[in-house]
Amino acid sequence: MKTLLELKNIQCRYDGQIAVDDLSLHVRQGDIFCLLGPSGCGKTTALRAIAGFEPVSAGEILIEGECVSRPGRSLPPEKRRLGMVFQDYALFPHLDLGDNITFGLRGEDKSERRRRAEELLETVGLTGYAGRFPHELSGGQQQRVALARALAPEPRMILMDEPFSNLDVELRERLGGEVRAILKARGITALMVTHDQHEAFAIGDQIGVMREGRLLQRDTAFNLYHEPAERFVAEFIGQGAFVKGTLEAPDTIVTVLGVIQGNRAYEWPRGSMVEVLIRPDDIVADAEGPLIAKVVGKAFKGAETLYTLEMGGGERLLSLFPSHHDHAIGEQVRVRLQVDHLVAFPA
Ligand code: ATP
Repeated sequence: MKTLLELKNIQCRYDGQIAVDDLSLHVRQGDIFCLLGPSGCGKTTALRAIAGFEPVSAGEILIEGECVSRPGRSLPPEKRRLGMVFQDYALFPHLDLGDNITFGLRGEDKSERRRRAEELLETVGLTGYAGRFPHELSGGQQQRVALARALAPEPRMILMDEPFSNLDVELRERLGGEVRAILKARGITALMVTHDQHEAFAIGDQIGVMREGRLLQRDTAFNLYHEPAERFVAEFIGQGAFVKGTLEAPDTIVTVLGVIQGNRAYEWPRGSMVEVLIRPDDIVADAEGPLIAKVVGKAFKGAETLYTLEMGGGERLLSLFPSHHDHAIGEQVRVRLQVDHLVAFPA
């Protein structure tokens, strides 16, 4: 697939302060890419630079091979042929949904525009809603209308800025899945920014984790979770704890919990002090297990319970037990390590 969007070492500043630094990435035609990071990491600035609302102070942005931003030159937003979906749906309250969706379309006659609005409403699962008004819809429905409106002028790509953060958590993931299905069915390329990893997991083919203006890792959700390249990514994505250890061989680390062997080779000198990431799914309930732990916290999750366990040396780890294993705080349980992905960082 050809590359639709390319950022080459872009930098964005506000009054000399760097908000985005040396950011490079590309998004292929039909892919959904998410920029994920904590508040203030620069993801919104990057999105605004792509949209043409912020200039770049270094590097360049190309869309379909054409340079749209470089220092001193910026193609205006309306000439970039990109669709935008914002956090606040920004629908016009006094226009019905049909007119909201076709607001930006010019040159076509009214009946043709109405037909187009109805087709787009069908695409986003709101068939027959053209005559309704925004206040008659739920937040999730309004956001789907906002998506239909962004799609109406047939943009080259959709940009979404925290599109689901006004919705409650359950709806967020569901709508994320729905929006993904809509974009995929139409082969639409999209870039979304969010601080919510579950939102990013629900929608993105590829996720880029940002911190302090920089892109740390670009990968699938699976790899970000199981093979984080930096400690920040390991801590930001998913849950877990670090246990101290010593590198015995490139794929073998000795820890107080035992010898951990994994799928990865580290080239640090033998004897190096390291910290090993232990995810909740790396510690398995096992009545015959070699490790004894004390339950010091529990959080019921439905199908599973997330226990906080204190090990013999005082280390605290998280572990997911099947929900029917019901243990009280203070109780002792037996577990074993089952580390399929070895993730370690220098101590
Ligand atoms: P959030 O999720 O909170 O919106 P973000 O990751 O999207 O955060 P940005 O909004 O891109 O981050 O901000 C990056 C940095 O740039 C921050 O330090 C922020 O304070 C600064 N910044 C953002 N907008 C402006 C502005 N208009 N003027 C000056 N500084 C700004």
